[in-house]
Amino acid sequence: MLSVEEARQRMLATIPILPSEKREILECTGYVLAEVLPATENIPPFDNSAMDGYAVRAADVKNASEKNPAVLSVVETIAAGYAPTKQVAAGQASRIMTGAMMPEGADAVVMQEVTQQDADEVKIFESIDTAGNVRFTGESVAEGQQVMGKGKHLRPPEVSMLASLNCAKATVHRKPTVAIVSTGDELTPLGEPLEPGKIRDSNRYGLYAQVEEAGGIPIDMGIAPDDEAETERIFRAALAKADALITSGGVSVGEHDVVKTVLAKLGEINFWRVAMKPGKPQAYGIADGKPIFGLPGNPVSSLVVFELFVRPALLKMAGHTNLFRPTFKAVLAESVTNRDGRVNYMRAILKVSDGEITAQTTGPQGSGILHSLVLANGLITIPTATTLQVGEKVDAQFLF
Ligand code: AMP
Ligand code: MG
Repeated sequence: MLSVEEARQRMLATIPILPSEKREILECTGYVLAEVLPATENIPPFDNSAMDGYAVRAADVKNASEKNPAVLSVVETIAAGYAPTKQVAAGQASRIMTGAMMPEGADAVVMQEVTQQDADEVKIFESIDTAGNVRFTGESVAEGQQVMGKGKHLRPPEVSMLASLNCAKATVHRKPTVAIVSTGDELTPLGEPLEPGKIRDSNRYGLYAQVEEAGGIPIDMGIAPDDEAETERIFRAALAKADALITSGGVSVGEHDVVKTVLAKLGEINFWRVAMKPGKPQAYGIADGKPIFGLPGNPVSSLVVFELFVRPALLKMAGHTNLFRPTFKAVLAESVTNRDGRVNYMRAILKVSDGEITAQTTGPQGSGILHSLVLANGLITIPTATTLQVGEKVDAQFLF
């Protein structure tokens, strides 16, 4: 059996990064930049005031104080969006608004709160250092500077930066389209009555949501029965529509587990037994350059295997370089036992207090008990064949 790390590295090594496309800036959120963006303009483009106040010569207000204010004559008011028309000479000041262009001659801005204007005269009650409250040309970004490179995840600050850089379009990696198929004769679509022996198909919906959260574009391909020919037809149709395929169920050793047979026909598939619980049986492979993930049918296994394997793979396809959730150490609030030779990913409630994370399991941990994930905000990793006591530390990651 492969360890989770081995299986994950092997799998990731085969995952393709999707080609790029040009997108409008407002359609770039969450995408990953596929080009280098040098600044073609200085930001800010001119020296400007960081405050509402008075543009002065610092030397003129050197000794200013509450008791001994400097008195300057005000030559004009400069609003944001307009260029100054007057120079500031010795003994003079210009009233200036935040973001307005600094007038020639002035080298600092005294904030409004320490001044008092009366007609064309202003009293300044505090000194200011040269350059105080001035934002200089290019101090945020200098022309020619490479601000954002390939692989940059475009979050709201980066979208704002694209606009600052006058980029109406950016070249980003495509997001993967991901077809999702549930398999199993027992699965009943929502809204239909449950006949004896049947259950609801929950995995397809959970996987759909996970694909969306991982930044992919899910494509719902419905339910395939436990019939080889029909499963093959549906899988082929699904693959034709998407960059990747996720199937749920039918990868175990059961008599009706036709998924393995069908996947083997579609491409280069490895049937993996990964030393993890939940989720031992999994299939992974590539067909026509497209990754295929055969996930186990148990609802918890399906969600957890997606989290540990499919999510990083989809992130890689979309051009991300940061593929994994950060791992923290958490202090156990209850003792836990893993009798298995497989690492156990227990569903946990993680609480942060006083800079420490504590972890408690969500109760019964069977791989069919979906509620164990509904109650959880994280996973804790319990090493093989061990009992850990209250107060011992485990690896933990926050989910969702
Ligand atoms: P399988 O991997 O097909 O043997 O399924 C393992 C278990 O997961 C069985 O109890 C199935 O009924 C259940 N299961 C399979 N697919 C789904 C699904 N889409 N939604 C909910 N449960 C499922
Ligand atoms: Mg099945």
